[in-house]
Amino acid sequence: MTLANYVNTFGQDLLRRYGERVHKLAINAGFTCPNRDGTKGRGGCTFCNNVSFSPNAQRPPRITTQLALGREVLAKRTGAKRFIAYFQAYTNTYADIAHLMNLYEEALALPDVVGLSVGTRPDCISGDVLELLSSYQQQGYEVWIELGLQSSFDTTLAAIHRGHSFADYQRAVHIIQSYNIPICTHLIVGLPNESRDHALESLQRVIELGVQGLKLHPLHVVKHTILAKQWRTGLYQALDFNDYLNIAADMIERTPLSVVYHRVTATAAMDVLLTPLWCHKKWLVLNGVEQVLRDRGTQQGAIL
Ligand code: SF4
Repeated sequence: MTLANYVNTFGQDLLRRYGERVHKLAINAGFTCPNRDGTKGRGGCTFCNNVSFSPNAQRPPRITTQLALGREVLAKRTGAKRFIAYFQAYTNTYADIAHLMNLYEEALALPDVVGLSVGTRPDCISGDVLELLSSYQQQGYEVWIELGLQSSFDTTLAAIHRGHSFADYQRAVHIIQSYNIPICTHLIVGLPNESRDHALESLQRVIELGVQGLKLHPLHVVKHTILAKQWRTGLYQALDFNDYLNIAADMIERTPLSVVYHRVTATAAMDVLLTPLWCHKKWLVLNGVEQVLRDRGTQQGAIL
C-alpha cells in the first residue's frame, strides 16, 4: 500500500490524466519577494530564510540548465519522461509581464515540459499574468497557481509577518477562478499560537472557496529567521512528530476526494534546519501519515 491508496495525490492524478509519470521540476528563476524588498515588508515572513535574499546570493543558472539537471536526476530515479516546470522559489509572478513571459516560455519551449506550476503570494496576482497563464492553458499546457496562504487567521498572518490578509487571499482566489486556472493553496501546520482547530478551520475555509489543490507543510525552524530567534528564547515550541501526523490525517479526512494533494509534508536541508529534525526525513513523515490513515481505517474525504 502507498499513500496514494488513502490520498488523492498529484502524482497519481497526473498518471491518470497523462497515462505516464509526470514529475515537477523545481526552478529558482531569480525572483525576489515584496515582503522582503520593502514593498510589503523588509524582514520577510518569520519562518523564511533570509540568507537566500542577501545581495551576495549567487544568480541561479538559466532555467534550461536547471531543468536539464533536474531531469537527469529524476529520469534516473523514476524513469519520468515528462515534466512540469515548477517556479518555486520566492514570488514567481513578481516582475513585469515581458520578463515573466520570457522565463515561463523558456521552460515551455522544452518538448518534455507539459506545463507550469507558479508559486506566488495572494497580493501578487494581476490580470496581465492571469491572461498570460490562461493563454498557455488554452494551448493545451497544464497550468497551476500555487498560492501561499499558510493560515486563514489574520492574527496569525500578522504574527508571522505575511504582509497580506485572508481577505487578500479570497480576492486572489476569485480573480484566478474567473480565468479558470486551478489553484493549489499552501497551508502550514504548527504556526505560533495555532492548534489543530486552527488548521482544520483554515482547511475548511479554503475548501469552501473551491480550490483544486492543497499542500500541507509542517512548520520547520531554519537558521537566520525570526522564528529561529523565537524558538531559541522559548517563544515558539516546535511541532511534535505524532501531532503533525494526526493533524495531517485529520485534514486529509476532511478534504473532498476531488481536491488533489500536491504534498502532505515538506523537507528542509540539514545544514539549515534547526527543529523539528524529523522534517528532514520526508519518507518517515509520508509513511507516518499513511500509517495513521491505515490504522484509522479511513482515507481522504471520509469525514465531510
Ligand atoms: S512570501 Fe515567501 S518568499 Fe516572501 S518572505 Fe514570505 S516565505 Fe519568504
